[in-house]
Amino acid sequence: MTSHLDIPDAGMAAAGMAADDGRAHDDDASWQDDVRAGVRHVRDLDSLPLSPAEREAAQAAATRHKVRIPKAYLDLIDWSDPADPIRAQVIPSPEELAELEGELDDPIADHAFSPVPRLTRRHADRVLLFPTYQCAVYCRFCFRKESLTSIGRGFSREALEPAFAYIEAHPEIREVILTGGDPLSLPDKVLAEIRARIEAVPHVRLLRIHTRVPVALPSRITSGLVRSLQGRLMVTVVTHFNHAREITDAAEQACRALRQGGFVLLNQSVLLKGVNDMVEVLEELCRELMYRLGVKPYYLHHGDLARGMAHRRTTIAEGQALASALRARLSGICNPVYVLDLPDGGGKVPLGASYIEVQDGETWRIRGQDGELRTYTELVGDL
Ligand SMILES: *Cc1c(COP(=O)(O)O)cnc(C)c1O
Ligand code: SF4
Repeated sequence: MTSHLDIPDAGMAAAGMAADDGRAHDDDASWQDDVRAGVRHVRDLDSLPLSPAEREAAQAAATRHKVRIPKAYLDLIDWSDPADPIRAQVIPSPEELAELEGELDDPIADHAFSPVPRLTRRHADRVLLFPTYQCAVYCRFCFRKESLTSIGRGFSREALEPAFAYIEAHPEIREVILTGGDPLSLPDKVLAEIRARIEAVPHVRLLRIHTRVPVALPSRITSGLVRSLQGRLMVTVVTHFNHAREITDAAEQACRALRQGGFVLLNQSVLLKGVNDMVEVLEELCRELMYRLGVKPYYLHHGDLARGMAHRRTTIAEGQALASALRARLSGICNPVYVLDLPDGGGKVPLGASYIEVQDGETWRIRGQDGELRTYTELVGDL
């Protein structure tokens, strides 16, 4: 076992994630308790109701990807069900050690498209900015797990300077996406500083925060955190719920605070075998996201080629069947777009099955949501 897993996450401690700070606002006390009482180190797995064989397997798998599970998320696990969908997302499993040829350290080519450290750019108008490589929860299926292990560092002001300079120097950049790592694992004052720095760049219009905190550590969404993100920019918080069981009273409260703060809420899910690869599960997830949380389902991601994740991937045909079934059951507002982020930096492309069967000149044969073929004839006049 590599030892770094047992060393307290220095950046997180410095960032206050595990701080024993008597001056903390009431608001902040509850999430700090959630972090402290959760799984923070491999040895904490000993306190979970795993069999000796499971524990040994989990400890071996944890050498490939860090473990961290806040108490609030841990409490959602039904330990009587070995296939519990919450458990599957955070408890290391021996299958993770079975890496296949063709799996990748950097499945969507973040590094190849990184002109300066901590920034990735694949599109003219938007960039990813990585203010930290630490998270409030470590998901077993993470496509950035190699970066989280090999880089692993938290926020440092100097480390982000080249990225800020790059954004300033490129007026075509309109959207800055804070990702990582999980940007909301940073303290309020760091978030406020990053937000202020980005909004001082006149050509940037939209700040996007990609985070699993509203799912795994909802108590972290405090009024102070909301205030830290408010300013000139339109702000979109993109959450990462994968199962309706993650939609709790605490998550509802967190999302309400974010909405009342004036932020637009979207969700991306990852399609995971044994977790959410059933149409009823995805349907309930998408409905509850929109109806209860006010979070619009944005993307459903096909499993990427992260190492050791073959046991959680579906085929594309399975994903297309699910996407078509969802399209027929759910309103447009509740429907996510099924996408694959291509290796080698091809970006995210929709994978949904085509509804078009044949085209003959101006006549198209197109399948309706009920599966029946219909004819549409183009009638385009001259100006
Ligand atoms: C996912 C991603 C984005 C955001 O893409 P959207 O389709 O706008 O959500 C931007 N840049 C990179 C490099 C990405 O991987
Ligand atoms: S929160 Fe996001 S970046 Fe962090 S481990 Fe989970 S999927 Fe990966």
